[in-house]
Amino acid sequence: MILSAAISGLAARPVRVEATERPAAEPISIAGLGEAAAREARVRVQAALASTGESSPQGVVIRCEGASSTSATALDLAIALAAAVPRPSRRIAAFADLSLAGELRPVRGVLVAVEALRGLADAIIVAPDNASEAALIEGAPVVVARTLADALRFARGDDCACTRVDQPPRLAPPTASRNCDLSDVRGLPVARRALEVAAAGGHNLLLVGPPGAGKTMLARRLPGLLPRLTYPEALEVTRVHSVAGLNVGGGLVSSRPFRAPHHSTTPPGIVGGGAPTARPGELSLAHHGVLFLDELPEFSRSALESLVDPLATGEVTLARASGTVRYPASALVVASMLACPCGHAPSRRCRCSAADRARYASRVPPALLDLFDLRVTLEPSMLGEPQDAREPERSAAVAARVLAARTRAAKEPPPADLLDQSARTTLAPLNGQTARRALRVAKTLMVLDGETAIAHAHLDEALALTGGHGQGSS
Ligand SMILES: [Zn+2]
Repeated sequence: MILSAAISGLAARPVRVEATERPAAEPISIAGLGEAAAREARVRVQAALASTGESSPQGVVIRCEGASSTSATALDLAIALAAAVPRPSRRIAAFADLSLAGELRPVRGVLVAVEALRGLADAIIVAPDNASEAALIEGAPVVVARTLADALRFARGDDCACTRVDQPPRLAPPTASRNCDLSDVRGLPVARRALEVAAAGGHNLLLVGPPGAGKTMLARRLPGLLPRLTYPEALEVTRVHSVAGLNVGGGLVSSRPFRAPHHSTTPPGIVGGGAPTARPGELSLAHHGVLFLDELPEFSRSALESLVDPLATGEVTLARASGTVRYPASALVVASMLACPCGHAPSRRCRCSAADRARYASRVPPALLDLFDLRVTLEPSMLGEPQDAREPERSAAVAARVLAARTRAAKEPPPADLLDQSARTTLAPLNGQTARRALRVAKTLMVLDGETAIAHAHLDEALALTGGHGQGSS
C-alpha cells in the first residue's frame, strides 16, 4: 500500500492506494476515480512504467481509497509505485505527477498534502520542484526523486539517487519592496497620509481621480508599509498560493502579497471557484496583503457583489456538490475610480452631466462602497508637486510608525470610549454610518499621533479622509 493525498480547500486527506493482482485485459485498471480521471492516469502511469525498462505489470487492479472522483491529480506516482512495488520496504507516501518519460512533475498543494501525511509515512516522495515547499513542514520525512525509476528503487529499499530534504531557514527576509519605495512618490501629502492610515488601521482605501494621478503607484507601495509577515502568517499565505498552483518551485512566501486583477476578471477569478476543484481567487491570493482593484466601476456587477460578504467576514465560502470549501480572505483593499466618466472632474474640462456621474458611481454596489473607510480624491496636478524641499520619507520610516500604531491600537478600548469633550461635540450631528466610519479612522489617527484620547482634530482629519465632510445630519 502507498499513501497519497486529496486536496480540498486548504486541507488534504490521506488517500490509500492499494494493488491487487488479478488477470485482466488491461495491464493496470484503476478503481476509486472517475472514468476520465482513471483513464488519463492509466495512460501516464503505463507510459512512465514502460520508460523505466522494467517489465510491465500483467493485470493489476489499483484501488484509490479516499480520492476525489473527478481528479487524479498528484496520484500518478502513488499508483505507479503501488502497481510495481505492492509491498514496499517501509511506509511510503507519494505526491507527484508523472511525465510519459517517467519524470516526477511538481503539483499544487504539496504543503497541505505533506501536512496531512506527516506521521503516517516514513518517507513522503515529491518532485524536485516541490522540495522547498514540502520542507516547510517541520519533521516531515520528505524525499525528493527525479524519476520514477529512482522512486521504485527507493520503495524497494535499493540504492538510489533520491535525497532527503533538510529544513529551510524559518523566515527569509522579504525582498519584494526594494523597487517600490514610498520615497519615489513626490508630493501627494494627503494620499501618503491615507496610505499610512490604511496600513496602521487596516482600513480599505478608495482613490478617486483622473488617469495619471498616481493611484497605481500609491497602491503598489502599501504592502511595504505593513509589518513583516509572522511565520504562521507566511505559512498561511504559502498554503493558499500552493493550493492555487502558484508556488511551484518556491518555498515560503515571505513577502506580503500584492494582487491587481484586471477588471475583466470573472467572479470565480475574484473570489474563487471553478471545476473540478474550487481554487482560491484573487481575494484569497491577497490574504495578509493588498488587493488592488484598478478602475473599480469597470468590474462586472457580479464580480463586485461577490466581494461584499468575504470582505466583511474575512473568509470566502464556496458551496460545492462535494461539500463546502473555505478560503481565508483577510486582505487590505485599495480601489481606484475616476471622479466622472470622462475622468476630468473636478476640472472645468469635464463635460459630464449630473446624470452621467450618478450612473457611473452607481456601478459600484453601495454595500461594497461602505467597506471603504478611506476615500481620497486626487488631482492630476498633485503628482510631482513638491510640498517642500526635503527628501520624501522612505517606506521603512512609515512602516515603523505603522507597526507601533498597530501594537498600541490592539490594547486600546473601542473608539467610542476614547472621545474627549471636543470630539463628542463634533460627532453629535453626524449620521450613524458617517460617524462610525469617522470614529474608526479617528482612533487610528490617535494612535499614530501617540495620543490617548480622540480629539476634535482627529475627528476633523478623519472626516476629511473618509469623505464625510458635508455629510452631516441626514
Ligand atoms: Zn467628466
